[in-house]
Amino acid sequence: MACRAEVTRFAPSPTGPLHLGHAFAALTAHHVARASGGQFLLRIEDIDRARCRPVWDQAIRDDLDWLGIPPDAPPLRQSDRLHIYGETLDRLWQLGLLYPCTCNRRDILAALDAPQEGVSLGPDGPVYPGTCRHRPRPAQRPVKRPVDQALRLDMRAALTGLGPLAFTETAHPDHFGQNIITPAQLVDATGDIVLARRDMGTSYHLAVVIDDAAQGITTVTRGADLFDATRIHVLLQALLHLPTPAYHHHRLIRDDAGRRLAKRDDARALSTYRAAGATPDDIRAWLGL
Ligand code: GLU
Repeated sequence: MACRAEVTRFAPSPTGPLHLGHAFAALTAHHVARASGGQFLLRIEDIDRARCRPVWDQAIRDDLDWLGIPPDAPPLRQSDRLHIYGETLDRLWQLGLLYPCTCNRRDILAALDAPQEGVSLGPDGPVYPGTCRHRPRPAQRPVKRPVDQALRLDMRAALTGLGPLAFTETAHPDHFGQNIITPAQLVDATGDIVLARRDMGTSYHLAVVIDDAAQGITTVTRGADLFDATRIHVLLQALLHLPTPAYHHHRLIRDDAGRRLAKRDDARALSTYRAAGATPDDIRAWLGL
């Protein structure tokens, strides 16, 4: 069987230096692309304007150059694409699939009437109990999408008329092969997710799905911690009539205590290793590549 030339992407947020975990994600995406004669792309996920900085945007590109894996095209920047996310939100609003939500995290926990430990967690935290979905709505629904409030996807309504959803997993040993997502799984395990945050006018889930399609990504490589988020993305692809890529969920790089490396682990920034004389081959070897 002829092997498809895969288009992959590395999609960091420029909120701090890249660490070994990012290097592993980028090298994995690059490897999957190169092994199939395909393309490795970069996307700068900078919708969180409060936390993103141009200096980190530049540092990401410098680190990829240093690792020897510069992207095959100029990066896509999410901050340039807010109007595109807005158009999609308008469409979903007109279909009646979004509703405004004024709950904060404390409201959600209070409505769940349970200590945090007992709350079922979805990819974005506690599964939303639907408080604002049940609020009385004005008889006349505003024609225009409200832009000053968070908007949630009415998950039950979104799933109406959609059959079972499917995607192919190419790496994760527990999910390898064809995965079927049932509507019940999404309603119970995920709840009504936020598609437009009040402060951003979009959300990670919406932007990622629109941009993976725009960049023609055929295999999404990402950490295994995002497996539940992938289910949401497959639903959004069906709703928005976008293609579903294959997914390659890779292992996470952890520190000696077994904790996932976070961006605040500055000591493990690639630039720190580089300044101490490490080579890209050292990095690959440490990552077991
Ligand atoms: N910006 C996300 C991250 O760094 C992208 C991951 C993804 O959607 O695959 O975790």
